Amino acid sequence: MRRKLIAGNWKMNCLKEDGLALASAVFQKCSEYKTLPFDVLICPPLSLLGQIASLPHPMTAIGSQDVSLAPKDFGAFTGDVSAEMIKDLGASYAIVGHSERRTMRHETDAVVLEKAKNAQQKGLTAVICIGETEQERESGLALSVVSKQIKGSVPTDSTGDNCVIAYEPVWAIGTGKVPSVADVAEVHAAIRHELANLLGSEKAETIRILYGGSVKPSNAKELLSVPNVDGALIGGASLKIADFWGIAETQF
Ligand code: PEP
Repeated sequence: MRRKLIAGNWKMNCLKEDGLALASAVFQKCSEYKTLPFDVLICPPLSLLGQIASLPHPMTAIGSQDVSLAPKDFGAFTGDVSAEMIKDLGASYAIVGHSERRTMRHETDAVVLEKAKNAQQKGLTAVICIGETEQERESGLALSVVSKQIKGSVPTDSTGDNCVIAYEPVWAIGTGKVPSVADVAEVHAAIRHELANLLGSEKAETIRILYGGSVKPSNAKELLSVPNVDGALIGGASLKIADFWGIAETQF
């Protein structure tokens, strides 16, 4: 049984005061319950990750938004932060291959694969992002694009313990546009199928596949009830506790 994962990607937002207040609000919400029927993850910017992870964070995992490509824990890689360092800050997840990095930083599947391996080798769960552009969808290429991204960026020793997939259609990120339920169902089923080809069906069944792209409290219940949707990766709406928790609350 895959537990749903409600994950917030804060991107390059928040200074100390508002970031700590937002994290504390998430922790406060979680602490109001003895147990939660889903997992919660927040991915603050690296500038705040250590401070946030050092606060008591009941039932909330902390993740980074990226990890170094360097195959080493330490060394001459100016500006990079290794998986070992991220773990040392108190994180247990690392997002890799977000479309903003694939597009703006020209990260290829091969780069994303190495980053995912670096994260997993240090015991971090890699949240591997995939998704088609608007042009690819309009050309009928959505399924072939995500299949290629799975083959190219998911390490072959991935399991539900060290890997989460986030399907984020690029055209749905931050735009307010959301694919139809039928389209989400079709792509998530194709991702599960591709994971089974790569890892075997037993392991593929353990891996959570999140949907990301303009998730809000008003559409979360419907999106998260689609077969093979095992949670959400939330950008803009994760920056307001009412919205982030409003999404989480649809899962009680
Ligand atoms: C994201 O960037 O991961 C994301 C899903 O953004 P948004 O929720 O703002 O569309």
